[in-house]
Amino acid sequence: MNSQSLKLKPLISEAIEDPQLRSAVRKAMQSTRESRAGLVAQYDEWQHWRDRAHAIKHEVMNHLDEYLEQFESNCAKKGIHVHWARDAEQARQLSLDLIKHHKIKNIVKSKSLTSEEIHLNAFLEKNGIHPLETDLGEYIIQLKQQTPSHLIIPAIHLSRQEIGRLFQEKLGIDYTDDPEELLQVARQKLRERFLAAEMGISGANFAVADPGALCIVENEANAHHTTHLPPIHLAILGIEKILPDYEALATFLRLLPVSATSQKASTYVNILAEPTFERMGEGAKEMHIILLDNGRSRILADPQLRETLFCIRCGACLNHCPVYEHIGGHAYGWVYMGPIGITLSPQFLGRKEAKMSPFLSSLCGACYEVCPVKINIPHHLVRLRNDVIESEANSPLEALVIRAWAALAQRPQLYRMATWLPGKAQQLLPKDKAFPVPGYTKERSLGRFDSKGFRNRFHEWQKQRGQQ
Ligand code: SF4
Repeated sequence: MNSQSLKLKPLISEAIEDPQLRSAVRKAMQSTRESRAGLVAQYDEWQHWRDRAHAIKHEVMNHLDEYLEQFESNCAKKGIHVHWARDAEQARQLSLDLIKHHKIKNIVKSKSLTSEEIHLNAFLEKNGIHPLETDLGEYIIQLKQQTPSHLIIPAIHLSRQEIGRLFQEKLGIDYTDDPEELLQVARQKLRERFLAAEMGISGANFAVADPGALCIVENEANAHHTTHLPPIHLAILGIEKILPDYEALATFLRLLPVSATSQKASTYVNILAEPTFERMGEGAKEMHIILLDNGRSRILADPQLRETLFCIRCGACLNHCPVYEHIGGHAYGWVYMGPIGITLSPQFLGRKEAKMSPFLSSLCGACYEVCPVKINIPHHLVRLRNDVIESEANSPLEALVIRAWAALAQRPQLYRMATWLPGKAQQLLPKDKAFPVPGYTKERSLGRFDSKGFRNRFHEWQKQRGQQ
């Protein structure tokens, strides 16, 4: 299991103080929201599809063990090798063993958040293997030695001028910020590596239990090349990616492109159901799938939070989150960011390690409204906040304040006195001065206390109602 303490405050401060980043993210989010809303309005069945997707995931999670076994056995019948990884370390080692067994030097990769989750690239680099990311956004951030800042648009935080300078520095070309020219440069570089690759590593959007197949949707055809050109294909995916059959898949293929990229359908839908080389003369000769647990079984065991495993990583909740729009993806400190990221971080990394994550939300509910599988993120965040408080992962001062409040709430006389006092104390301050609370008011204003107080106002209101 990954174990790291997320130090988010410096990351958040850095993001807030970067006007270029905030402007790039804001612009992209606004246009994504508008185009998605326009598309959703065209579908009368949208809510019905969401309900159906939720029901499918609910059924799958309730019988995940059976669906996984069915998937494995159907894959095995067609010569696909399925491996099981209990954690990130085992998944990395399985990948390396396969690479070493086949003496592989050249690897291309298509976008895979699961491989980011297990830090596969860094591990392979340490072992002298240099996989090349082939999704354009991933290629850019690999050149910049960064991690994705969005689930779907990994380089959303960069302007085209920054990408132009990056290509100039790393690829030795003349500076240009023309997107078409930059695309041609990347395409040329990637093509050389595709042709030389001995292995392609991918993730998968879905794994279909019956008949035992992977589904990868994309717009650039790089996933198709990654999984079809090299003789060996390795896919790494979380165990929650399972769907029962193609009929269930059809529902998700309607919801995913609208939610992820505001398209009615993705440009390419790759269904990988067998190593096709022998039968068709093209495609992989050997296909391997690593099914990763890495904490998912633990999440599954929680009757409420297991709903967070329904996520199809479409990114819609990020695009509608006021917090994400202000700080971008890197400020969340982990591979999964935005509203779904802050529900997953404490579950994967631990309540103490990710104690701040569930609080990075206004609980406005926009994420729930747009989620294509209807994950009630705000509800889960409240539960996770509670978990953090109960695990006493919050600061000792905060814990003390909460204990003091709990004690006061049980003693009405004292409570009245404690809520009356600040209103009186502020009369000592100049009229335009907010009430100071060391630390808390460094980053926000507490405003002034209502000098009348809630109880007095409530009594007044009751009296008025009685007279009416
Ligand atoms: S939580 Fe819902 S909206 Fe957010 S990425 Fe997952 S599926 Fe998409």
